[in-house]
Amino acid sequence: MTLYELDPELPWSYIRGFQPVSLCDWPGHISCVLFFGGCNLRCPTCHNSKIAWNPIELPPIPSEKIFSFLQKRKSWLDGIVLTGGEPSQVPKLGSLISELKTVGLPIKFDTNGLEPEMVKTFICSELIDIVAVDIKGPWSKYPDLTGGKCSEERARISLSYLLELAQDWPEYFYFRTTWVPKLSQPDIEEIRSYLPQKQTLHLQDYVPPEKHSKTNSMLDFQVIPPKTETNPTMVQDEGY
Ligand code: SF4
Repeated sequence: MTLYELDPELPWSYIRGFQPVSLCDWPGHISCVLFFGGCNLRCPTCHNSKIAWNPIELPPIPSEKIFSFLQKRKSWLDGIVLTGGEPSQVPKLGSLISELKTVGLPIKFDTNGLEPEMVKTFICSELIDIVAVDIKGPWSKYPDLTGGKCSEERARISLSYLLELAQDWPEYFYFRTTWVPKLSQPDIEEIRSYLPQKQTLHLQDYVPPEKHSKTNSMLDFQVIPPKTETNPTMVQDEGY
């Protein structure tokens, strides 16, 4: 199998999927979606495990193709979504976003929220227009929900920082939770209690990953089934 290494000097090398058009990655927007390889968590419920954990098995999408597409199609797009994997783990991501901003489209940043300073920097420097933060569950359940990769304390400290920012800058934040089997109704209520008054918790239905195993194995073949909010899929070099 050919492997395609991630180059920490080249943030574009982390893009391992590109969806030219999405109607659900940015509610109310027609967006295109860039999928970044790599993740700092190991959620047992992950739907994008290949791009999150084995991105080197997927070829990078050349930046020339992305820019060519964006220049041609930007008039009917409302924005660009950066997702993963976990885009906050990409070295020099800010420089990549700066380049993307030259296209003139708003940018949405999807994150698990464990790099809150980065989010603040991106907002303050006007690199992103909105950030969607996944709250996995009550802080106490983070070790279980993230494959042991995030402690209760880290979740509480990182996410609380973002929740405080959201109090001051509500227009920049969108909080969401996927209702995985390990979460109960009281858990959802506990998550809601974390949010500032004017924020809504957007719940996403959970679909078991095994139903998407075909999706993941098909990435190499560049064929993409329909996408839902809980089934982020991606295109590998379709000649868009
Ligand atoms: S944070 Fe997201 S991409 Fe990373 S392992 Fe969890 S579900 Fe998968």
